[in-house]
Amino acid sequence: MVALSVLLAAVPAGAQEHAPAPAERANLARAGAPVAPDAFPVASDARVAGDAGRTRLVMDLSRTIDIKAFTLADPYRVVVDLPQVTFQMPPRTGEQARGLIKAFRFGLVMQGGSRIVIDTSGPVRVDKAFVLAPVDKEPARLVIDLATTDRASFMRNLALERPPVRETKRFDREPPKRSDDARPLVVIDPGHGGPDTGTIAASGEMEKVIVLEFAQTLSEKLEKSGKYRVLLTRTDDRFVPLGERVHFARQEGAALFVSIHADALAAKSESDVRGATVYTVSESASDAEAARLAEDENKADAIAGVDLSAEPEEVAGILVDLAQRETKNFSHHFARTLVGELKRATKLHPHSLKSAGFRVLKAPDVPSVLVELGYVSNKRDLKLMTSEAWRDRTSTAVAQAVGTFFSTRLAGSGASRGAN
Ligand code: ZN
Repeated sequence: MVALSVLLAAVPAGAQEHAPAPAERANLARAGAPVAPDAFPVASDARVAGDAGRTRLVMDLSRTIDIKAFTLADPYRVVVDLPQVTFQMPPRTGEQARGLIKAFRFGLVMQGGSRIVIDTSGPVRVDKAFVLAPVDKEPARLVIDLATTDRASFMRNLALERPPVRETKRFDREPPKRSDDARPLVVIDPGHGGPDTGTIAASGEMEKVIVLEFAQTLSEKLEKSGKYRVLLTRTDDRFVPLGERVHFARQEGAALFVSIHADALAAKSESDVRGATVYTVSESASDAEAARLAEDENKADAIAGVDLSAEPEEVAGILVDLAQRETKNFSHHFARTLVGELKRATKLHPHSLKSAGFRVLKAPDVPSVLVELGYVSNKRDLKLMTSEAWRDRTSTAVAQAVGTFFSTRLAGSGASRGAN
């Protein structure tokens, strides 16, 4: 307990002052969460203390909870699973490196379950992981103590502590009524969510929020037409693994899958480039930027603390399968239609049609495209993407492309026109 109190005392005094009093925290909870504000514990602040040998993360909570911490390799991460928590943290929490912690993030990963994902600078051991009950004016505190270790010990621990694969049902919505509804199903896939924020603008806007708003507007438009059934892979700020997005579209029998993203520019030299891009899947990327983007987007699972070594590869080697040709042709056909419509509504990237190995586009039987609405890192693009007028105009264009796609597809000319 001596070491513990030393580390707690080592928490910067200034940071402590930010911890709201219990009454303030209750107000925060009421202001922040839209539904049943008192239902979930609230995490209100976090601090990191320590050095390259030993580092402690402390998070303030409105009440005690049960936690489970485990490590993941390649890249080195520590994952802390919690019951559902409402995070009301100060901006930029978790972005600063200290000791063994490079950065950490947090968010909803399933109904009833939140997660903290800590990137570590090397192999670490979770020395302690516990929650202190509130005492007097001090809130409850989640405490994670990390100690440095070597890779061999890290890998040994990994095998011991790997939790059993959980049978979680993330899609807690009503099953589709396929028999009495013959309309084609469009699955819209807002990228990222939960601990995976996607791109964050210098001014703080997050890709996961921009793309969810867009997807919801688009969904309303498509539904209003009465011609399609529409489902979203997520309807709130939660993480959904890439494979599960694909699996969901296939299981529900989607006729079209549209993944929505808003990227950042990698290099300063590209800073004049802006506008929307439409991507289809391919084994080799159409250019270096497409390759870089697919690599970034494919990291989503690792960012949200998914154990990639334990994830089953649902669709293996599908890109070379001749049976995928028709799906591929439909995807290309829709991508071209979409570029044609988007041209009238928004600024397009100079090379607006590209392809790369996006994991989320790999359903062998569902025509799939990924739309990058614009660059969160570009001020003009960002201003557009956060404006309601642009969202309305651009989602109308996507809805129109969906209409064209299905009318030509049902007329039987989609595949031949889409062939390349
Ligand atoms: Zn993205």
